[in-house]
Order: sequence, then structure tokens, then C-alpha cells
Amino acid sequence: MVSANNDFTYNSKIEGDVIVTKADAVVNWIRSHSMWPMPMGLACCAIELMASGAARHDISRFGAEVMRFSPRQSDVMIVSGTVTYKMATAVRRIYDQMAAPKWVIAMGACASSGGMYRSYSVLQGVDRIVPVDVYVSGCPPRPEALLDAIIKLQGKVAKEPALGKLFKA
Ligand code: SF4
Repeated sequence: MVSANNDFTYNSKIEGDVIVTKADAVVNWIRSHSMWPMPMGLACCAIELMASGAARHDISRFGAEVMRFSPRQSDVMIVSGTVTYKMATAVRRIYDQMAAPKWVIAMGACASSGGMYRSYSVLQGVDRIVPVDVYVSGCPPRPEALLDAIIKLQGKVAKEPALGKLFKA
């Protein structure tokens, strides 16, 4: 049997359920299905982030339900809300404290582009201080949009050169 993306293969002639694959595919499969979010809830979008963890949306279907409030234990920062200049330094500091590999989701118009706040106090997009992997549009984006972003991020992680990155970080 061969999986859809040819990353994992199974040889039925070999006894003992042997699966043949590439090391990168295994590492990426584990990483993409056990993402622990760092919930960076800064404004109203954070309510939608919280809703995504509730039973109705059930973020745990994607292995991402373990919200960590410690940067040492999380690998995907979900920036949900308006990033003011006052908060920007804290966001960057927490990102720096997260262990590599790490990813960032900008959730909502404010985190992605400053949203409607074209003002002196608001950062016009969190990608000015941290590298963003997936942007979620909307004001506010529904929890389904965040789940879609997680699926997109999983797809992106699955294509990363995992072992090469291990030694780079
Ligand atoms: S995008 Fe809309 S809902 Fe989200 S933080 Fe900005 S104003 Fe609030």
C-alpha cells in the first residue's frame, strides 16, 4: 500500500508490518500533528481563538489543543489581535524564547496588517517583527479559519527539510 503523497510505503511481503519512509517524512509527520500553540491573545480575536478550543470546533482533532503559556513548551505562536507597539517588544521576546523549530500564525486583520487601526500606536502587521507562516483573514476570523490555517501550516511543515533544520537551529 502506498499513501497519497508517497512519503510512507508498506511492503506486505515483509513480515512484521514494516513501514518504509524517509527520515524527513517521519519527523515532519510528528511535528505537524503535535503542534503546541503559544496563544498570543492581544484583543478580540483571542475570543475566537478560545472558541476554537471548545467542543464545537475541537482543535484537538489536529493535535493542536495543548495551549502552552510557556514559550519553552510551544512551537507555534498564534498572534490573535491587535499588536500595539507597546506589546510588540514582548511578542518578539516571547518568540525568541521559543525553541526551534517554530512557526507563526497571524490570526485576523489586525495581526496580519494592523487592520482598521491605521494609527501611531499599532504595528501594521506582526510580520514586521516575527516571520509569519500563515495569515488568517477576517475581522474577526471564525474558529474554522484558524483550523484551516493549522491545516495549511501542517502542509507547509510536511515539506520542510526537517533534519537539515535540526542542525541549523
Ligand atoms: S481583526 Fe477585528 S476582531 Fe481581530 S483583533 Fe482586530 S478588530 Fe478585533
